[in-house]
Amino acid sequence: MSKEKKLNGTVIVTYRCNAHCTMCNRYKAPSRPEEEISIETIRKLPPMYFTNITGGEPFIRDDLEEIVEELSKLSDRIVISTNGFFTDRILKLTERFPKVGIRISIEGLEETNNEIRGLPDGYRRGYETLKQLRARGMKDVGFGMTVQDRNAPDLVPLYRLSDELGMEFATASLHNSFYFVENKNVIHDRPMVAEHFEGLVNELLNSGSPKKWFRAYFNHGLINYIYGQNRLLPCDMAFDTFFIDPYGDVMPCNGTKEKKVMGNLNTQSWDELWNSGQADKVREFVRHCDRNCWMIGSVSPAMHKYILKPALWVVAHKLKFWKKKKYSMYELQCCRDYRDGKLTKEMCDQRSTCDMLTEAEDGRIFSAINM
Ligand code: SF4
Ligand code: SF4
Repeated sequence: MSKEKKLNGTVIVTYRCNAHCTMCNRYKAPSRPEEEISIETIRKLPPMYFTNITGGEPFIRDDLEEIVEELSKLSDRIVISTNGFFTDRILKLTERFPKVGIRISIEGLEETNNEIRGLPDGYRRGYETLKQLRARGMKDVGFGMTVQDRNAPDLVPLYRLSDELGMEFATASLHNSFYFVENKNVIHDRPMVAEHFEGLVNELLNSGSPKKWFRAYFNHGLINYIYGQNRLLPCDMAFDTFFIDPYGDVMPCNGTKEKKVMGNLNTQSWDELWNSGQADKVREFVRHCDRNCWMIGSVSPAMHKYILKPALWVVAHKLKFWKKKKYSMYELQCCRDYRDGKLTKEMCDQRSTCDMLTEAEDGRIFSAINM
């Protein structure tokens, strides 16, 4: 690969986290500060057109400003995902780097958010951080929400709130992987959750923003995902996209059951690692991966690469809107089959990444059969 080709990278700067989310056990398996990715290793990363800094909770790191400074030299755009709890640290960093985007994960309206996040006062802190960032003129600010049974009714109200505040609104649904140290996440009432996504898709399509129309397509894909169906677009992770974890391990994504390692940037150069036989083995794995996840980290690059499919979907649905016809989740075969009894809850559960035969304990996943 030419070193000039810009990649899409996610840098997991720490596995430490101050929250105790119901859908993620990462806080039980934190990294130790002394083993977390160093500035020297970050300097070895390739040129990127987009970098997501994430965790754990990235603002736990004392040297996050130095990390952003180094990544600014390598990347055209940086977005930090955070739970928004450390308001002062976030405001201080954005004063120094006003172009950096901030996505604060809020898991519902106040009561629901605090319950899911396991952070008393988490909603007020996150929301206050968002408002203060906006008041200071920060443009690239937004909410992120992981939709599940418990918070699905808050989906459209939270979108409307973000819209009123002129903010971005990013969605996800439950996933299982080594990264979340969790294998039992699953949507129980799929039609109910899908209906709330359907409401959001219609709000997005009804807006005047082309970016939101494409977000509508992403959320349409989330409905497809929660029914355990094949991805609407191919997954090309590890080809022009990568994740790096706090230990310097470079991986295709954060969605695999076990960690897949292409190489280690603490001990290798980028070119050596990226062009290695091990990296090719991981790419081969990606080509046949059947986890069908639909997270923005893998879908956004795919939507850019295979733009025709989402673009045609957007055009078709905007035309429908002009004829006063709305988007319906029953455009998806899986929703019709579920309604008609041809696809059952058990079949969807089986196709999902949820594995009830495992237990997460002390931050690791065990097979319950061997316990
Ligand atoms: S989902 Fe994020 S904020 Fe919640 S425990 Fe996991 S790493 Fe922390
Ligand atoms: S489908 Fe893609 S993003 Fe998901 S686990 Fe497989 S390789 Fe990773």
